[in-house]
Amino acid sequence: MGLQVYNLHKQFTTRNGSLVALKDINLNIEESEFICAVGASGSGKSTLLRLIAGLDTPTAGHIQVDGVKVTGPGPDRGMVFQKYTLYPWMNVAENVGFGLRLQGISKSERREKVGYYLQVVGLSEFARALPKELSGGMQQRVAIARALASQPKILLLDEPFGALDAQTKETMQQFLIDLWRNTGVTVLMITHDVEEAVFLAQRLYILSSRPGTIKKELTMDLPSDRTYHTKRHSTFQDCK
Ligand code: ADP
Ligand code: MG
Repeated sequence: MGLQVYNLHKQFTTRNGSLVALKDINLNIEESEFICAVGASGSGKSTLLRLIAGLDTPTAGHIQVDGVKVTGPGPDRGMVFQKYTLYPWMNVAENVGFGLRLQGISKSERREKVGYYLQVVGLSEFARALPKELSGGMQQRVAIARALASQPKILLLDEPFGALDAQTKETMQQFLIDLWRNTGVTVLMITHDVEEAVFLAQRLYILSSRPGTIKKELTMDLPSDRTYHTKRHSTFQDCK
C-alpha cells in the first residue's frame, strides 16, 4: 500500500529536440511515512511531483496509490505548490472547499469538512478572510488545508516553504511535522534544501541532475524531532 513509482521516465520535446527530465525513477513510500526528495534546481523534482499528481503524463513507467494504478489527477493525491496558488477572489473557506465542490460534495458536508481542516491548520478565525489579507505562512496553511480537505492518501508538497522568510519557514516546518504526527497522513515533500529535508524526513531520496535519477536513498535513524536536529548533521554530510 502507500505510493509506488515504477520506472518512471519523462522526456520533454523542446525547440532543440528533446530533454530527458527523469530517467528510471523508482519510489516506494509506505503509508504514514514522511519522505523528502531532494535535488538541485533542474533535477526534475517538480516534474516528478507533477507526474505523481497526475498533472502531466509520463513517457514511460507508472504510478500506484494503494495498489491501484493512477492516471490523471484525483482526490487521493493532495498537492501543495510553492506559490500558494489560492484563488484570490475566494475567501479562505471557499478556497479550502473548492476541490470538494468539484467532487460534488454537498454544501453541509463541505461546511463541516472545511471547518474541520481550518481548525487543523489553526485558521478557524480566518474563514472569511481573503488570501491577500493573510501572511505567506498562513496562505500556505490554507493551501495545505485545501489539499487535506479531500482526505488524500498522500500529501504532495513542491518546495512549499521556498517563498517564505527564514523564521516563518521554521515555524511551518514544525507545523508540518506536528500535522503529520497528528493526522498520520503520508507525505512526499520535494525540496532543494538539504538541511530542510534532513530535518523533516524519515527517509530521503536524493536526485541527481540531467537526467533526474535517484542517486541515493537514505533512511534516517532518528525521529523527525527538532531535538535531534544537531545530531543529524552527519547525515547532512552524507547527502552531499
Ligand atoms: P526542478 O523542479 O528540480 O527544478 P523541473 O522538474 O522543473 O526541475 O525541471 C527538470 C528539467 O526539465 C529542467 O531541465 C526543465 O527545464 C525541464 N522541463 C520541465 N518542464 C518542462 C516542459 N514543460 N517542457 C520542456 N522542458 C521542461
Ligand atoms: Mg521545481
